[in-house]
Amino acid sequence: MAKLIDGKMISQQIKDELKEKVAALKETGKEIGMAVIQVGNDPASSVYVGNKKKACEYIGIRSESYELPEETTQDELLSLIEKLNADEKIHGILVQLPVPKHIDEDTIIKAISPKKDVDGFHPQSVGALSIGQPGFVSCTPAGVIQLLKRTGIEIEGKECVVIGRSNIVGKPMSLLLLRENGTVTITHSKTKDLKEVCKRADILVVAIGRPKMIDASYVKEGAVVIDVGIHRDENNKLCGDVDFDSVEPIASSITPVPGGVGPMTIAMLMYNCVEAATMFD
Ligand code: NAD
Repeated sequence: MAKLIDGKMISQQIKDELKEKVAALKETGKEIGMAVIQVGNDPASSVYVGNKKKACEYIGIRSESYELPEETTQDELLSLIEKLNADEKIHGILVQLPVPKHIDEDTIIKAISPKKDVDGFHPQSVGALSIGQPGFVSCTPAGVIQLLKRTGIEIEGKECVVIGRSNIVGKPMSLLLLRENGTVTITHSKTKDLKEVCKRADILVVAIGRPKMIDASYVKEGAVVIDVGIHRDENNKLCGDVDFDSVEPIASSITPVPGGVGPMTIAMLMYNCVEAATMFD
């Protein structure tokens, strides 16, 4: 039976550490400010934005909320970002994605100052990660590294296989595992013999976006399995990209869904906000 990697507990630990750090910063007169922008009222985005604001409140970060109507133009959004880039009281800027179709996501991501890019999506942040310079790291993969480290799972020298090469999960995940001295293989929809490649993994990180696709036939006995996927199954229950019931008996450690990677994303966003107030001083 695999050990469960408890993302709920670890994310709480991180938030409590940050709360203390923020209180200490406040004593030196520094208050951290974060701007959260949502364009339109997509219900899923509203839930994410609400959770982010709640986490800010818990940690002691002042959040400024901008709820803009669906018909907001790209220029209007860009001028708000420009204003917030120049605002010394704001350390982090978050634009909830996706933005409506008439707004170009890449243009928006590039408009946010890399010093305030708490999502870690700006090309400069991604470039800094790839050459080992300071900068923000995309929250979900950064959360996976914390899960591994805080459960005492060694990455150095391990065969790490990442399934998925998206800009927000798969690619930064691979770079982070490499930074930790793992031997990293990136796989994707065009990979041949996916099963054989996955079976090499000591650490298998799954970010495909396909419910329960990875069963025991992809997993080496004793591997650590990290499931980034989030879906609702046929019974409306949350599930991941990994078929938990099939994989759990042969893995050494595994993240559940819910309660694994999910809660880490917001914890690492909060981590980035606190870093934003100190990293570029
Ligand atoms: P994406 O759709 O952008 O990327 C999916 C990747 O999987 C692609 O690179 C593609 O090449 C690869 N892929 C697709 N089908 C494949 C196949 N049959 N075999 C091998 N590779 C295949 O998705 P994403 O944004 O990286 O998200 C992945 C999953 O993680 C989704 O379920 C998403 O909901 C979830 N997610 C969770 C969090 C979180 O906070 N826990 C954050 C982001 C994404």
